[in-house]
Amino acid sequence: MLSFKILETLALFTVAFSDLAVAETETAGGFGPSAYTAPGAFPTSVYKHYYNSPTATSAQPQPVIYDPVSHEIYPLELTDPSTLPKNDTHDPHILPPTASSGQILESAFQQILSIAGSSSFETNNCARCQAALQVGKFLAMAAPEQAPTFVVRVCEHFNFDQDCATTYGLDQLGWVITQVIANADVGGLDGQMICSNFISGLCSPTTTPLNLTNWFAKPKPAVLPAAKKPSGKRLKVLHLSDLHLDPRYTNGAEANCSAYQCCRDNVVNSQTPDEMVFPAPRFGAYLCDTPLSLMLAGLKAVPILAGTGRTGFDFTLYTGDLVSHDPDNQLSRDYVLYTETVLYDLIKKLINTGPVYPALGNHDTHNEYVALCFDAESNITKLSELKMLLTPLVASWGTSLVGVYQDRYAVIDSWLTVEPRNYDHVAGLWEHEGWLPQSAIDFARSHYTAYMVKRQDGLRVISLNTDMWYTANYFNYINMTNPDLFGMLRFLTDELQDAEDAGDAVWILGHVLSGWDGTQPLQNPTNLFYQIVDRFSPHVIKAVFWGHSHEDQLMIYYANNATSISAQAAQAVGWIGPSFTTSRNLNSGFRVYEVDSETFDILDAHTWKSDVNSYPQLDKQSVRGPTFEYEYSTRKAYGGSVPGWGPNDPLNASWWHLVTEAMEKDPALVTTFNTYQGKSSVRTQPCTGDCITAKICYMRSASASISQQNCIPGFGTVQ
Ligand SMILES: [Zn+2]
Repeated sequence: MLSFKILETLALFTVAFSDLAVAETETAGGFGPSAYTAPGAFPTSVYKHYYNSPTATSAQPQPVIYDPVSHEIYPLELTDPSTLPKNDTHDPHILPPTASSGQILESAFQQILSIAGSSSFETNNCARCQAALQVGKFLAMAAPEQAPTFVVRVCEHFNFDQDCATTYGLDQLGWVITQVIANADVGGLDGQMICSNFISGLCSPTTTPLNLTNWFAKPKPAVLPAAKKPSGKRLKVLHLSDLHLDPRYTNGAEANCSAYQCCRDNVVNSQTPDEMVFPAPRFGAYLCDTPLSLMLAGLKAVPILAGTGRTGFDFTLYTGDLVSHDPDNQLSRDYVLYTETVLYDLIKKLINTGPVYPALGNHDTHNEYVALCFDAESNITKLSELKMLLTPLVASWGTSLVGVYQDRYAVIDSWLTVEPRNYDHVAGLWEHEGWLPQSAIDFARSHYTAYMVKRQDGLRVISLNTDMWYTANYFNYINMTNPDLFGMLRFLTDELQDAEDAGDAVWILGHVLSGWDGTQPLQNPTNLFYQIVDRFSPHVIKAVFWGHSHEDQLMIYYANNATSISAQAAQAVGWIGPSFTTSRNLNSGFRVYEVDSETFDILDAHTWKSDVNSYPQLDKQSVRGPTFEYEYSTRKAYGGSVPGWGPNDPLNASWWHLVTEAMEKDPALVTTFNTYQGKSSVRTQPCTGDCITAKICYMRSASASISQQNCIPGFGTVQ
């Protein structure tokens, strides 16, 4: 329209000028004049009207133009040189209509297919995965009710799971994944870590550089306080881990099944679905969790074998995991609460434990691994994220969140809005059994079960909920650049500072180990944890205890992030307790430490085991139950390789480092370690070649970062 008008105006000018030329200077021969000089004044007669004075020489004339088609007169504003427009705001700019949530779902799915097939990413599957996550993020935000369906469709298309609808539907992980993707920075580290840990290792992000400025209230003392003199009195401390009671264990069900969990009524061996390959023995099997009969037999054996029937243990560590390894869809809150109730009661009834210091495992929650907690007060943004996260839950369960945010470390897991809340329940059971002082109970209840106990004898025990660094806990994947998303490592650091100031010793316990082969914990939080251990070792932290792997393992923490790996730099030991459960391919076991009552150094570790391979012979009779027997003394097994260590010298980090040096010279020691790692199970595979190098490296890797940086992957487990 406008351009047409301009053309017409130009045409008018052309006609006017040619008329003038002809009238004044025409010559013979058909040519025009050899020169023409235009008049200086604007030919005002061309237009009837002007917006300005056409004869003024200070500006170009602005004629009033009439459009013979639209019958409009164009306003001065359109061509006024002093009112240049920024944008055309007059003409319509048409957007697509709002898509329905169904259309968004469909389009998101098609985009995933396009991204999957796009050549733009070439071989960069990390970028491809992050691009796909972004599609998911915006679907989760725009049409959250469609997101679980989307996850199921993507899962089915790419064959991620045998039963995508059950695994990723709304009732199981669908709601969790929707919440996490909607809130995570999927284009940044969060997305890289999701692609690394949940989708076939497509990305390999490295540890985020740590800024420790202001993290520690005081620097590590240049001269450490003199070590306390050993009392010579030895305490007996029981270490139990990973009981994994299976209350649905079915005698005679398939124990050699194809899909977890075996020894259950609903499983078969897919190669011979109509024929039983190996009927589950009454006392347990290698691919199954602990039946009640094994649980009772084993717990009864503990005080008898440890010689504590009358005296009792001085105290007991329980490094987590009570519940069986069911598929998610077979679990429920009640099932978890039931197991917690049964097992703490049995420990109390059958073992004269002394105080028990428990830690929560990744299975001791529902959904399993999905534990949440936020430090609500310290970060408003986080709080709003949290509210967003929980709004649909509140809506569906019709309960109120009032009061949740009142504690500084307001703590949530997926049970938050229903009673009984799991953290309440667990803390309540610890209170009921009389294991922890009231202050620790109160703290555990409001701090996702983490707590500190100040014993009378100069030892403090700090228990952590390591779901906060477990790779499988989806809620760890929001804002991952923060190594202490939940405030737990702040709590730990403050407690350690307090202990240092008071001259007390500290033992730390938790479930998921901070290092070893680097597959179980996240890099950033365990990297920070490692620096904390360095800061307070060896003068405050006397030992660290973990479970989770089910295997008898060990890790050494070194100074300066293990930049020098030597006996001098070795600072602390992480003892990983063998599991009571036989899952998978392991014997059942437990451990007792001998500990100096003044220094709280570990003087020896004694491990017992029960041979699961013998259990089928115990069927069809009730005279004999399973046998638990002494497996080994740590000092006897490796002490011969560390000369100059007296019988009462502690099995500390330096001693363990020297053991690893001896292992480098004599691989037979690694073979010994490997056998014990599987609790002498007949199913433990031998460790040769790269496995030897890898295993020594894992023992020297107490954070995920160090392990991933230094070690050959793939040899972490004997299962
Ligand atoms: Zn476990």
